[in-house]
Amino acid sequence: MSDSGLDLGLLEELCNAFGPSGFEHEAQLIARDRGAGFADKVLYDRMGSVIFQKGDKGPKIMIAGHVDEIGFVVTDIDKKGFLKFHRLGGWWDQTLLTQEVVIRPSEGDEKIVGIIGAPPPHVLTPEMRNKVLTMDKMYIDIGCTSADEVRELGIRVGDPAVPYSKFRTMRRKRKEKKNPDEEDSEEIERDVTVAVAKAFDDRIGVFIVLEALRRITEENIDHPNTVYFVSTTQEEVGLRGARTAAQMLQPDIGFAVDVDISGDVPGAEGLVQKMGKGVSISAGDGSMIPNPRLRRFVLDLAEKNEIRHQPAFLKRGGTDAGVIHITGMGAPSLFLGVPTRHIHSHHGMLDISDVESAVDLLVEIIRNLDEDTAKSFTQL
Ligand SMILES: [Zn+2]
Repeated sequence: MSDSGLDLGLLEELCNAFGPSGFEHEAQLIARDRGAGFADKVLYDRMGSVIFQKGDKGPKIMIAGHVDEIGFVVTDIDKKGFLKFHRLGGWWDQTLLTQEVVIRPSEGDEKIVGIIGAPPPHVLTPEMRNKVLTMDKMYIDIGCTSADEVRELGIRVGDPAVPYSKFRTMRRKRKEKKNPDEEDSEEIERDVTVAVAKAFDDRIGVFIVLEALRRITEENIDHPNTVYFVSTTQEEVGLRGARTAAQMLQPDIGFAVDVDISGDVPGAEGLVQKMGKGVSISAGDGSMIPNPRLRRFVLDLAEKNEIRHQPAFLKRGGTDAGVIHITGMGAPSLFLGVPTRHIHSHHGMLDISDVESAVDLLVEIIRNLDEDTAKSFTQL
């Protein structure tokens, strides 16, 4: 446990686990085994999503984090023993050369670490140096010299791979305004834990969902709702697991918990949401317009309970809430985020205090929602 009471050991285990879209099994087992200890009931859809139910009356609230991470799939093994590959989810090809990846062979249990090969500068023409090499021209080198050698290791076309990178934390001291909205607010020093890992997108969401479930159970929090904490699959290839889970559950209210894009790094200055400023409460993205009354309800709860929070907006992209909110006759939904630097790469970076704020906010939402409040979001 950390100072905040979060189980960072679980977060480490979730982030290091193997589980690209469509191949989530290993990561999902970790989530299932943890959640099953706190849920009244565990349910499954047939796309690999796992649902932890708490309570059985009142409005149905679906809270989703997606367990899949972006990765790769082997598409060809050439005569010299190099592997061609394709993307599972969105990659910027420039982030890939010389990075390590880990492949799960379909034959045998041992995972294989490889390097995405890059030509040395000595052999590049000036034009080649200035161009982004695209993924279709890249290859994974696993130290073999023939296709037979690769086959011996159990690797076949269709085998999945993910970034090879390990979870770690760093301590920092940060001077900040006590109240960021006030011009001459007093300055405070904050002890910050920054975490770095692959797959924060979206194991951080699954982690927050599981930690909220643990809090509701351990603290015996009374609430008049049926809450479904869901670890969904295949978000990165089109919100697919959330679609089937939502069709199965027919929720009245929905939340997606996911990484948000942190606007505090060079190149992302147009975004208001920033690492370390609290849980982000979305004002909209490419997949949905959140129900304004639900959003107001959540903002009021954050203010009343002094939970650090910030507004967020994404012009493109979306989350599981994008499909949840148009399930059945519709379900007012909202995306809650953890602003993360360098997402969709080998190394995301986030501030653990934002994770804490997200868990606190979810617990307050569950505690305060009820039938009348849920109805009020859509009454004319
Ligand atoms: Zn995501």
